[in-house]
Parts: sequence; structure tokens; C-alpha cells
Amino acid sequence: MDSPHVVILPFPAQGHIKPMLMLAELLSQAGFTISFVNNEQSHRRLDQAAFRRRCPGIEFLSIPDGLPPDHPRTGPSTVDLFFSTNTVSKPIFKNLIASMSRPPPACIISDGIMSFAIDVAADLGIPAITFRTFSATCTWTYFHLQKLIQEGEIPVLQGSDEDMDKLISCIPGLENIMRRRDLPQICRLDPENPILKFYVTESSKMTKASALILNTFEELEAPAISHLRTIFPAVYAIGPLQTASKSSAASYNSSSLLQIDQSCLSWLDSQPSRSVLYVSFGSVIVLNRDQFMEFWFGLVNSEKSFLWAIRPDMIWDENGPSKVPEELIMGATERGRIVGWAPQEDVLAHDAVAGFLTHSGWNSTLESISVGKPMICWPVIADQQVNSRCVSEMWKVGMDMKDICDRSTVEKLVRDLMEGRREDIMKSTVEIAGLAQDSVREGGSSDRNIKKLIEDIKLLHSTKNASRTIID
Ligand code: UDP
Repeated sequence: MDSPHVVILPFPAQGHIKPMLMLAELLSQAGFTISFVNNEQSHRRLDQAAFRRRCPGIEFLSIPDGLPPDHPRTGPSTVDLFFSTNTVSKPIFKNLIASMSRPPPACIISDGIMSFAIDVAADLGIPAITFRTFSATCTWTYFHLQKLIQEGEIPVLQGSDEDMDKLISCIPGLENIMRRRDLPQICRLDPENPILKFYVTESSKMTKASALILNTFEELEAPAISHLRTIFPAVYAIGPLQTASKSSAASYNSSSLLQIDQSCLSWLDSQPSRSVLYVSFGSVIVLNRDQFMEFWFGLVNSEKSFLWAIRPDMIWDENGPSKVPEELIMGATERGRIVGWAPQEDVLAHDAVAGFLTHSGWNSTLESISVGKPMICWPVIADQQVNSRCVSEMWKVGMDMKDICDRSTVEKLVRDLMEGRREDIMKSTVEIAGLAQDSVREGGSSDRNIKKLIEDIKLLHSTKNASRTIID
């Protein structure tokens, strides 16, 4: 019998493409053929040859995202993709699938914020599975945006600390944990804001998919996963994907859209065990100059060594991207090291690294959890506010400096973390890393869920059952 063919469509951003590529690799290792559809810009930037060598069953295709070629597609302008993909990419994606030379797909796995693919799948009679690249807790939170609006919790206005610390009561399971300030950043927008409306619509459209895939593991987020099982006929928690795919460094490095600077690894080799703080704010957020300087002086004043990944477009002033001041780079050589884009998973796993100052993107959070590195969180957008709350209060694997950006706080938290003053955090970090690794071992929860996903897709393939339900 021919092998199942699966079409995978990520949202065109690093944090979405990477986990979906890891999934593609897993399905390819199970003998599936994969059509991986990127926007044209990501398609060009990805090291496709490296993937093809390892997984000849993956074919890379591209569709336009509707933005002009010179659009930056990063930083604050990433949101333009929300609207352009929905209108421009949808008919092109449909034509692409309808005219594919490969056998008709057993299913389409699309990003949770590319729900137009679910409409396309329905039009073509193909089952749709949605992959939300957020945590389960955050995915569950997003399903309550409409309710939060109705209850008058949105917009969260930057009020007094007392106001911002008020608990939110309308999200089942999160009543004692989620404060106003921990709601996703879009909850600070006016209810009529198109970005907030986009997420409300996408969350509702997502539920038309027959199953949900999450890059998380049952032991970490059991309550939220079981809540999500009340919405979707099947939920597959298959993470941490970078561990589950048993990928080599070559594998996750080739998922990178930016040029990786490997030189920091030899620098780390020369540093004492657990002596360096890794700092990265991911692929999208930007810092203004004042914020950058607060972090800089906080790090320098802590007198700890650090490795900071600073993208060329990470610091912005009124005129757009601006450079790291030259004198800082020169001064950094003694205790600090700057790279444009780091081999993050290798860095986090390195023995010299003691902890991670992060923006709390979900991939970064999970990558840190998997290798047992405690975090200092400075969330800015999207799911980051929710993730940092889970990190600090639910899982106790880090400290949250949400809504604060001053050098004395940075200095204090860096010292607390690097000097191991938070024994509770050190203990949970080790325990949860063990659970993460167990989940992807043979027989672990994520391993079982991946196998179930594979079997369910095979079933769709063999019966060519175009109905929406995957039988559990
Ligand atoms: N990353 C990397 N090198 C860097 C910074 C980030 O490889 O210097 C990777 C990181 O390993 C993670 C991804 O980029 O997989 C960022 O995803 P995340 O969800 O953490 O944040 P986002 O970029 O979506 O805000």
C-alpha cells in the first residue's frame, strides 16, 4: 500500500515553523510522505537540503503570503501576516492541494492561526488537524477571549498593582493562578482591535478541526489538556518535540531561518560549569533602547558571565531597527558574549549554562524545561505572559519579572538564579526535566500520543475517510 501523504502548513514565523518541522520529521520517520508548505520567504531561508538528506519523504512547497517582498515580516509587523495569509494564501493553498501530483492527502495539519486551511480541507473533503504551537494552558486561555470580553475583563488597563494582580475567575482550572496581568498581551487591547478579533475568530474556527496537536506533555499540563479534550474529539500532546524527534543538532539547527553562529559553543567550552546565563528574547519581539540598556546594566552589574543572542533587528528606536552600541560590544568581551543568533538548544544543554533569561516564548520555555535550566522571564507579547506565570507559579521552574524592566531587578534576579538561592526552583527544575525526558521515552505519554497520532492518520489514509472525526 502507498504511504500516507500529509500536508503541513505552519504560520510563517520561526516559533511556528520549527515545531511543525519536528513533527514533519517524526511523521516522515514513520514512513509518511509530507508536503511542507511555507511562505516564499521562509521557503528560501530554510536549509531544505539538510532536511531532504535526512528525510527524503519531505517535499517543501511554497505559497505567497500576500505581503510585498520587501516587507520585514518580523518584529511589530509580523501581525500583518495574520490578515494577508487569510485572504491571499487561502485560494492559492486550495489550488496547490487540488493540483498536487502526490496522492490526495490523508489529512492537512495546519497551524492553529492558519484556520483558513480548515475551510480548504472541508471544501476538498480532507480531514483537518490543527497544531497550536502554544502551551495547553495558553491555548485553553485563548478559548476564553470572548468570555473575557463579555465579563468586562478586556481590556486590561495598566492600572495599579492591586488592579493588575486581581485574579481572573472565568477560566475553569485557572481561577487561583491567572491574574489580569498574566492574560495574553492582546487582552490589553480594545475589544474592537483587529488583532484581538483575529484571535477570537481563529480560536473559534480551530474547533472545526477533528483533532488538536500540542507541543507539550501530559505530566506538565494535565488539567489544561483534559479541558481541551472537552472541545476536540482528540488531543495529542506530543512534546517536547525537540526531544521527541530524537533529533541531532543538525536537525533542529536546520529548522532555523536565521544564520546560526556556532562560535559561542567553543566559548562556552572554556567557561566553568554552571557559570553562564544565556539571554535570548526569541525571533519576534523588539526592545527599545531604554529597555535594552536596563537589561545590559542589570547583567553587567550582576557580575555574572552571560551569552546574549541579539538579532540584528532586535533593538528599535523611533526610526526602526538600531544597532547595539559599539562600545558595549567591546566592553562585553570580558564577561559577556554577544551573538546574532545562537544554536539555542545546544547552548541550553551546555554544562556551562546555569540558567536562561527569556521572553517566555513557548519553544524557548519547553527547550529550557527539557534540559533542566531555570528561567528568568520577561514576557512581552502573545502567549508569553501566560507561559511566564506557569513557569513561576505552576511549575516553579523560574522567576517572572513581568511588567518590570529595570536594572536593579535584573541584577537581583540574575544573582538569585546564578547563585542557586532559590532552592525550590532548582529542585522543581530537575524534577520536571526528568518528567519531560520520560514522556518521550518508549512507552512515555508523548511517545504513546505520537504513536496514536500516527495510527490515526494511517486509519484516515486506509479508509480514505473524509469525515471530520478521528476515532479515539
Ligand atoms: N532560537 C534560536 N537561536 C536564538 C534564539 C532563538 O535557535 O538565538 C530558537 C529557539 O530555540 C526557539 C525559537 O527560536 O526554538 C524561538 O521560539 P519561541 O517560541 O521561544 O519564541 P518566538 O521566536 O516565537 O517569540
